[in-house]
Amino acid sequence: MLKAGIVGLPNVGKSTLFNALVANAKADAANFPFCTIEPNVGVVSVPDERLQVLANLSKSEKIVPTRIEFVDIAGLVKGASQGEGLGNQFLANIREVDAIVHVVRCFDDDDIIHVSGSVDPVRDIEVINLELALADLSQVEKRLERARKQAKGKKEAEAEIPALEKILAYLNEGKAARHVSLNEEEEELIKPLGLLTRKPIIYAANVSEDDLATGNDWVKQVEGVAHNENAKVVIVSAQVESELVEISEEEKADYLESLGVKEGGLQSLIKATYELLGLRTYLTTGPQETRAWTIHAGMKAPQAAGVIHTDFERGFIRAETVAYDDLVACKTMVAAKEKGLVRSEGKDYVVQEGDVMLFRFNV
Ligand code: GDP
Repeated sequence: MLKAGIVGLPNVGKSTLFNALVANAKADAANFPFCTIEPNVGVVSVPDERLQVLANLSKSEKIVPTRIEFVDIAGLVKGASQGEGLGNQFLANIREVDAIVHVVRCFDDDDIIHVSGSVDPVRDIEVINLELALADLSQVEKRLERARKQAKGKKEAEAEIPALEKILAYLNEGKAARHVSLNEEEEELIKPLGLLTRKPIIYAANVSEDDLATGNDWVKQVEGVAHNENAKVVIVSAQVESELVEISEEEKADYLESLGVKEGGLQSLIKATYELLGLRTYLTTGPQETRAWTIHAGMKAPQAAGVIHTDFERGFIRAETVAYDDLVACKTMVAAKEKGLVRSEGKDYVVQEGDVMLFRFNV
């Protein structure tokens, strides 16, 4: 399962947001009886309106959304790359994630101390990004040294050197490694380094409930930074989300309406993270369940079938495939077939976003 790590300075609302994520996840944990949840790991459903529509058509007993994992990575402070705070342990955790959600404080509250004394999201982002870049810098330097030693006679090490040098030049200027363009081979070679500043990033601008509908000047500043980095910003209110967890569905609707929003930002954050990870969803539907499955963009039908079960991949014959919109327009699989909209796809078919699939396979 793909993992997103939540980072940010202390007291910006990370734990509040993470707890709201986990509380939501617990609500549908019944669907996933075998998943163990660690204290700082939350497995979260990805919201998808299509599931309910298909479930209605198929009269499905249940709906099973697809999931991603969020990890609360506490302990990033100024000096973390030098071993301050949780230091290296923190950095080891974050190297494992596929994407980073950077929570930034965009709310004012005199009762909640800001580690640097005032609310200033641009400065906060710089502090965190500098720590990440410094951590990458020492990683790349070490690796480069090793590669140079091994280079004589070892092809891989030789090929790695120019890639590492390119990255080093950026990091030395305090720029993120994500801006360096590498070819496919170089990309593979540097992958094991788990460079923090090469991971895709989303900024979660944490605002007070009053600013949820409109944003505020701090959010605009975050958007300015994100624009230069090709990153995305999601406005979220950790405070609102933590209150939503406590109240009934009916109260939720009233509360959100009074704030002038449809949701507290958490759902948008989950969706944006999913998209950031380059993931696609295909769907299966029947009387038993309607379910979303996660694949990487470009995956072919047998591999996509393998996400359900390895037997499906091994014994793959064909996949009856219909686009979600076509199925919804025709209402039933039979009607879609009559119109010629259900395709029988073979092993070279690249699965598309929103394909509704039924796999034929040998056991
Ligand atoms: P962390 O250190 O980043 O994990 O921050 P926490 O989630 O522990 O939050 C620090 C404090 O800020 C807690 O007392 C939260 O209740 C409070 N807090 C979090 N989000 C908001 C918010 O949007 N508005 C306000 N006023 N307080 C918040």
